[in-house]
Amino acid sequence: MNITELVKKDCCGCSACMNSCPRDCITMKPDKEGFLYPVVDEKQCVDCGKCGKVCPVLTRKPADNQPKAYLVRNKNSDLRQSSTSGGFFAAAAEYVLDEGGCVYGVGFDEDFKVRHDMIESVSDIKKFNRSKYVQSEIGLTYRKVKEMLGSGRMVLFSGTPCQVEGLLSYLGRDYDNLYTMDIICKGVPSPKFWKKYLSWHRKKSGREIREVRFREKTYGYGSTTMRVIYDDGSEYDEPFDVDPMLQFYSKEMISRPSCYNCKVKGKHRNSSFTAGDYWYVSGAAPSMDDGIGVSQVLVNDEHAAAAFEKMRKYLDVAELDFDRDSAINGGMMVSSAKPSPRRDEMFADLDKLSMQGLQRKYFPSTFKLKNRIKRQLRPLMYRTGLLRIYKKRMRKKQSERAARG
Ligand SMILES: Cc1cc2nc3c(=O)[nH]c(=O)nc-3n(C[C@H](O)[C@H](O)[C@H](O)COP(=O)(O)OP(=O)(O)OC[C@H]3O[C@@H](n4cnc5c(N)ncnc54)[C@H](O)[C@@H]3O)c2cc1C
Ligand code: SF4
Ligand code: SF4
Ligand code: SF4
Repeated sequence: MNITELVKKDCCGCSACMNSCPRDCITMKPDKEGFLYPVVDEKQCVDCGKCGKVCPVLTRKPADNQPKAYLVRNKNSDLRQSSTSGGFFAAAAEYVLDEGGCVYGVGFDEDFKVRHDMIESVSDIKKFNRSKYVQSEIGLTYRKVKEMLGSGRMVLFSGTPCQVEGLLSYLGRDYDNLYTMDIICKGVPSPKFWKKYLSWHRKKSGREIREVRFREKTYGYGSTTMRVIYDDGSEYDEPFDVDPMLQFYSKEMISRPSCYNCKVKGKHRNSSFTAGDYWYVSGAAPSMDDGIGVSQVLVNDEHAAAAFEKMRKYLDVAELDFDRDSAINGGMMVSSAKPSPRRDEMFADLDKLSMQGLQRKYFPSTFKLKNRIKRQLRPLMYRTGLLRIYKKRMRKKQSERAARG
C-alpha cells in the first residue's frame, strides 16, 4: 500500500511519508488553499510501500490505555503568563531539558512561518510557548528525532495529535527516552491565510513585525487576544471577534479539510501526555482559579506517569475525573468541528479580496458602531472585574449544558 491510496481530504499533512521514503522521492507541496500535501515522483518510486505503512491515517493503531486526568498550573508565573493555558508544556520541557534532553516544538522562523524546531536550553522554552493557530511545517523533523533517540538523549516532542501519531508511526517502536505531548485539537488553519494576514499587518502599520502572540492574556485567560508587536514597539491587540485570523479560525473557515473529519484524535491516545484548555476551573478546583489559566492534562500511560511524578515540582496539581471532566471540557478531544458552509467561497475569495474586504464580506458586524463601543469598554470592564464575572457566567452555563450532554 502506498500513500496514493489515501484520499486527499483525509491527509492530515503529518509528513511521516516524506520522512520515511528511502528514495527521498516524496515532497510536501502546497495546494491552492496553502496546505501541504505529499507529491510522489513516480519515476524515482520503487513501490516499496514504506510511506503507506507509516501513514497514521491509513494504519493508526488505536490506543488501549486508561489515562489519568489532572488540572495543572506552572508554578513559574512568568512561564504561565506566556503559555496558552496553565503552562504544562513549559513544565514538561523544563523537566526534559534539566535531564540533559532536547525538546521539539512549534515556533516561528525569521519570517513568522510556523514550523517545528528544536531547543536545548531552558531559556529558549518561550520560543515554543503559546498555541500558533496555523499548521506547522514538520519538514524532516522525525528523522532528526530518531537520530537523537538513537544517540541516547531524552526527547520531548510536542505537536498536534496527527503529528505525534505521524512520529510514532515513523519510529515504529517504543523508546524509553521519548516523551510526546499532543493537544486537544480543534484544527489547524491555512499557512496561506496566515501569510496574507501578516502582509495585511505590514501594510496597514507600515512597519515590520517583531513579535506575534496568539492568545495574549491581556484581559485574563478567559478573554485572550491576538497581540502583534511592531518593530518600533507599537502594538496591535484585538479579541477573537475582531482579529481576522482568530475570527476566520473560530468560525471554521480556514482549517485543513482533514480536521473536519479527523481520523486520529480520541479520548485514548498513543501520546505520553495530552494537554488542553480548562474553562471550568472555578467548579473543579476553585483554589487554582486566579484568571491566568490552567491546563487540563491527560497522563496516558505508565511511562508518562513516572515522568509526571518528577514534573510535579514545577506544577500545582489537582486530580480530575477522566470520564466526567473530559466530557465537560473536551468536545474537541473526540469530535471534529463542522466546516462553515461558506468555507469554499472564502477560499475562492482569498486571492481576490483584501483582508479587510474578506472581513467586510464575511464578518460585517466587526465594523458596527455597537461593537466598536463594546471594544472601547473592554479595558474598563477588565479593570473593574466585570469582564471576568461575565465570562465566568458564560462558561458556567456552557459547562452545565455540556454536563447535561
Ligand atoms: C492549533 C491548535 C488548536 C487547539 N485547539 C484546542 C481546543 O480546541 N481545545 C483545547 O482545550 N485546547 C486546544 N489547543 C491546546 C491549547 O491551546 C494549549 O496548547 C494547551 O492547553 C497547552 O497549553 P500550555 O499552556 O501547556 O502550553 P502552550 O503555551 O500552548 O505550549 C505550546 C505548545 O503547543 C505546541 N504548538 C503550538 N502551536 C502549535 C501548532 N500550530 N501545531 C502543533 N503544536 C503547536 C508547541 O509545540 C508547544 O509545545 C489547541 C492548540 C493548537 C496549537
Ligand atoms: S512506495 Fe517507497 S519509494 Fe515509493 S514513494 Fe513510497 S516510500 Fe517512497
Ligand atoms: S497523512 Fe501524513 S503520512 Fe499520510 S499521506 Fe498525508 S502526509 Fe503522508
Ligand atoms: S484536527 Fe485532527 S487532522 Fe486536524 S490538526 Fe488536529 S489532529 Fe490533525
